Amino acid sequence: MREKILIANWKMNYDFYETTSFIRNLLKVLFDKKINHNKKIIIAPSFPFLHISNQISQGTTLSIASQNIHQKNKGAYTGEVSAEMLKSIGIKKVLLGHSERKIHFFENNCILLKKIKIALKYNFHIIFCVGETITDRKKNIHFSVVKNQLKDTVFHCSLDEMNYFSIAYEPVWAIGTGLTASPKEAQDMHKFIRLLFMEQYGKKVSDKISILYGGSVNDINAKEIFSQEDIDGGLIGNSSLDMNKFLKIIKS
Ligand code: PEP
Repeated sequence: MREKILIANWKMNYDFYETTSFIRNLLKVLFDKKINHNKKIIIAPSFPFLHISNQISQGTTLSIASQNIHQKNKGAYTGEVSAEMLKSIGIKKVLLGHSERKIHFFENNCILLKKIKIALKYNFHIIFCVGETITDRKKNIHFSVVKNQLKDTVFHCSLDEMNYFSIAYEPVWAIGTGLTASPKEAQDMHKFIRLLFMEQYGKKVSDKISILYGGSVNDINAKEIFSQEDIDGGLIGNSSLDMNKFLKIIKS
């Protein structure tokens, strides 16, 4: 049975007070009101608030992920944060490969592979993002683009290391734009990705790996997207910043 996962990617939003009060309120609503859902919920706040967020969530089923790590462990990399540092404050999950990091911070597959390797060295669970641009889709090369993204990064890892991965399919044209892939477009890509894992690592891995959809998921469209056979949850940006919308997505 594949794990259903919902990740709130808060990007560079929410200060200390907003972060801590959102997480406290979320925990209160989820547990006091005993909201019925089948998903593992992960919040990815900004670096300065990872420690406090992790402390608040201790002993609950909510977990906290970092939005990034540096590919080196320590040294003269002003402004960067390492996997070892995050591990020392109890963080065990990291988002890698997000298209905003590729666009604004020039992360390429070579850097991403280094980030994957250092994250695995510290036993992080990696939520690895893949997805095509609108130009790729118009040219009808979206399947091969996603295949190459995996081939150059995740597929350099061993069979055992697959236990540490979830994949997020995030079409770049759908992130923060209000446009979503149709449920069929998303399902077709998820099925394709699962097939790639089958070819690379076999049925056990492809049956087990969670593949999440991300790209303008909201409280209205979540149910239909999540009901697709190969979609195991979502990576949510904007809608995860609104408690009411996020709760509706959790219940979807
Ligand atoms: C994201 O940042 O990964 C994302 C999917 O954002 P949004 O939901 O706002 O499109």
